[in-house]
Amino acid sequence: MAGYKVLLLDGIDPAGIDIIGATNVIEPIVHDKISRDQLLDIIGDVDGLIVRSATAVDRELIQNAKRLRVIGRAGVGVDNVDLDAATERGVLVMNSPGGSTTTTAEHTVAMLFALARNIPQAYKTLQNHKWEKNKFKGIELAGKTFGVIGLGRIGSEVARKCQAMAMNVIAYDPYINPDAHLSSGLKLVDLQRIFQQADFITVHVPLSENTRNLINKRTIAQMKDGVRILNCARGGIVNESDLYDALKSGKVAGAALDVFETEPNTESPLLELENFIATPHLGASTVEAQRKVSEDICRQVCDYLLENAVEGALNFPRLEAGQVQRYQHFENLATRLAGFIAQICDGRMQTVSIHYSGEVCDMNLNYLTSTIVRSLLVPVLREGINLINAMHVAKLRGIKVQETRLPAPENFTNLIVIELKTDVESHRVSGTVFTDKLPRIVNVDGYPLEVVPHGHMIFFTNNDKPGVIGGIGNVLGRCNVNIAGMHLGREQEGGRALALLLVDNPVSNDVIEQFRQIPNILSAKVVHV
Ligand code: NAD
Repeated sequence: MAGYKVLLLDGIDPAGIDIIGATNVIEPIVHDKISRDQLLDIIGDVDGLIVRSATAVDRELIQNAKRLRVIGRAGVGVDNVDLDAATERGVLVMNSPGGSTTTTAEHTVAMLFALARNIPQAYKTLQNHKWEKNKFKGIELAGKTFGVIGLGRIGSEVARKCQAMAMNVIAYDPYINPDAHLSSGLKLVDLQRIFQQADFITVHVPLSENTRNLINKRTIAQMKDGVRILNCARGGIVNESDLYDALKSGKVAGAALDVFETEPNTESPLLELENFIATPHLGASTVEAQRKVSEDICRQVCDYLLENAVEGALNFPRLEAGQVQRYQHFENLATRLAGFIAQICDGRMQTVSIHYSGEVCDMNLNYLTSTIVRSLLVPVLREGINLINAMHVAKLRGIKVQETRLPAPENFTNLIVIELKTDVESHRVSGTVFTDKLPRIVNVDGYPLEVVPHGHMIFFTNNDKPGVIGGIGNVLGRCNVNIAGMHLGREQEGGRALALLLVDNPVSNDVIEQFRQIPNILSAKVVHV
């Protein structure tokens, strides 16, 4: 019998559905057409949801999805998914961008040819039974300067294809190391140079606050007269009204858009211009790409549900399949250290500083930090906190999280140190894992110890005076609580000291109150990890 259910909407290619079915533990539920009411009805019963761009995965839907752990977008854009709402509810959101790279790059090149040779316009006149050979004189691509803005998956592929067509390709991407592309003969330049030199400009950047209206009246003014512009990325990167003016005036000789600020769009004034061509967001629309993005996203969703592997996530760091299992001992250590410090610290959490050293740094540290933050918050919030929303919840609560890597310490091959500062006190706990893979606390507040933290514990701070340990033993004996282990640490004889007791049974508040009556006990706290 299936253990999980994944709902697939928007006509996901069957190749991916087969992958889900083949797991034998995940049941694919396919609805190519479903009303909003029906969807709200069934969403509460599924663990995964896979969509393309048609379904609005909004806050209301996510709030109704009580069991949902993962939302997969077959393809790239997640404009139809409320990422914040998903993160707040601890739902992972992933996409599968790789599958549409070749297809979208090919579409861009198709648009480039169509733009240079007026193919759509010429065909339209033929359809109207006109033979207007002289009207559609084109230009060659070879030898022209082609400016690529955004050199990620698609931009790089477009650049490569256009180099092969003897174009002089220059590219701008502020997040790419200039040395990375020198070998292929591709020149990375600044944006100004693209504007000043390019005969054709194509954008392949995500739509963000930085890239919205990247091509506008002001930037168009810096371009060569007669430049041609392409956008097969996202609507809004090219300002459509400014483009209209520039096409009308002839400053821009031609433009090709696959994407619009609002879609679907059949009413844009641009469509009336002779020197403008467009397609209805066809960039990723090929048989091969739809199959590939469906296979990719369905495999990613299965890997997450079955193995906790995280690939292509938009609200969580990447985790290869098997990485969590391989480094389970570090995750276990992080969870226990965080659970421990959260329970010995009073007050409102303000700052968490986490220091990683040695072998632990081989693991995805963002993942470990999320694990620690989740474990710190569990004693306070219990339900509803998980690895996906832990950092978000910490931020909402004003908790500052700092993460550093330090050189490997002398005595340990790996070490995690957590310092927690609240509005009333601060504590510091360090832990390591030896070859037996058991988590060990090796230091609390500067006192060296060696404890495998597990089960019920009592944490004391006291003055190092005779009678304290005897007093603790008396109280526990009277209350019938068996001591499983005792670990002591002290600054110096007669100074401050701490004791960590492992006990076999849970300890009530009444017992803790009795400890507090013992002379020289400064604090006593129950810890359970
Ligand atoms: P990507 O993440 O691989 O690449 C984006 C690149 O843009 C990165 O290299 C990044 O460094 C760069 N970048 C970010 N901000 C920049 C800025 N201000 N200036 C210059 N470069 C900047 O993404 P991708 O898969 O190559 O996709 C590129 C675009 O194509 C995205 O907008 C994506 O949504 C779109 N897309 C459209 C279709 C379609 O159907 N038309 C299909 C797939 C992808």
